[in-house]
Amino acid sequence: MPKLSQRVGTFTDSVIRRMTRISDEYGAINLSQGFPDFDPPKEILDALAKVSYEGPHQYSVTFGAENFREALARKQGKTIGREINPEEEIVVTCGGTEAMMCAMMTICNPGDKVMVFSPFYENYGADAILSGAQPIYIPLVPPEYGFDIRLVEQGFREGARAIIVCNPSNPCGKVFSREELMAIGELALKYDAFVVTDEVYEHMVYAPYRHTCMASLPGMFDHTITCNSLSKTYSITGWRLGYLVGPGEVMEGAKKVHDFLTVGAAAPLQEAAVTGLCFPDSYYEELLDTYTKKRKYFLDGLDDIGLKHNVPQGTYFVLIDIREFLDLPQFAGYTDLEFCEWMIKNIGVAAVPGSSFFREEVNHLIRLHFAREEKTMDEAIRRLGKLKGLRG
Ligand code: GLN
Repeated sequence: MPKLSQRVGTFTDSVIRRMTRISDEYGAINLSQGFPDFDPPKEILDALAKVSYEGPHQYSVTFGAENFREALARKQGKTIGREINPEEEIVVTCGGTEAMMCAMMTICNPGDKVMVFSPFYENYGADAILSGAQPIYIPLVPPEYGFDIRLVEQGFREGARAIIVCNPSNPCGKVFSREELMAIGELALKYDAFVVTDEVYEHMVYAPYRHTCMASLPGMFDHTITCNSLSKTYSITGWRLGYLVGPGEVMEGAKKVHDFLTVGAAAPLQEAAVTGLCFPDSYYEELLDTYTKKRKYFLDGLDDIGLKHNVPQGTYFVLIDIREFLDLPQFAGYTDLEFCEWMIKNIGVAAVPGSSFFREEVNHLIRLHFAREEKTMDEAIRRLGKLKGLRG
């Protein structure tokens, strides 16, 4: 067999997506890969039905259908506090995943350094390898997941071209404060570097926390590439609709990368999703209300069965501390991954091992999500309650 590239030998498949496959194989309740088990808004589904007969069914403009970009520009313009030019400052991608990959390939030369906060969303590791970037990890220190801004400055001094900021953060639920973002932004300006943000959970930020868009801060639009997606906001993760917002010159480069990577996102789905992008503000208020209730419901459930967890400020993820179980003789020598596999088979609930998010040696955390109907959460909590029985 001829040899494969060295590149593919340097990273594994996504553990998040792998856990979904194992979960499906064993018929577990899947609280690993984050996606909702409820339907998208009816208006979007009606629009999709209509599109199936009326089209479009052929390619859209490679960097996004015009009406989709216009609707995005209106929506994101409000968040960023600046008029967004839909021709020049937006690139529509196949999900937030392509958006991040595209951003990295647009700004990084092989060997360039890029700062990544740890814990981080798994994809950034592979994105760095695929784009040739060398990650410099900046620890987010539990329990508050604060960070030392001096390390960020040191990274820029070492020549980092960019820093990736996932806000709110997957998997720890941290919401970066305006002050933290200002501090990062000032350094990016001082060292003439980019901030690449991943804001796919922007509408899941729980009171009293508030989402601040990096690109909205003074002077930051020209230094920020915002990666975002419709997946979480409209419960359409399978539609793979994402986008980049950034200065025209950067988007010019991103358009080329995107064009040759994927040509374009699905035209009929863009057309149907325009309906969602035009929803009034009340839609986002209700979405937040729904997730605020789900968060309380799930965290209360975890408290009832005595599992130790963080309280996410944003996103729909929770980190559970499993040290008390790993200390039991039956799990001696288990990694968090092995524990998650055991849990799928014996408890019937799928989680993601924390080690897939941390640069540091972390073996005692697993990630669950609560984008689930209450009845699914009830059954998951009932099953997770069996863990406590192990302690006798
Ligand atoms: N962001 C989701 C998660 O962390 C999954 C996204 C994906 O699998 N593309 O679970």
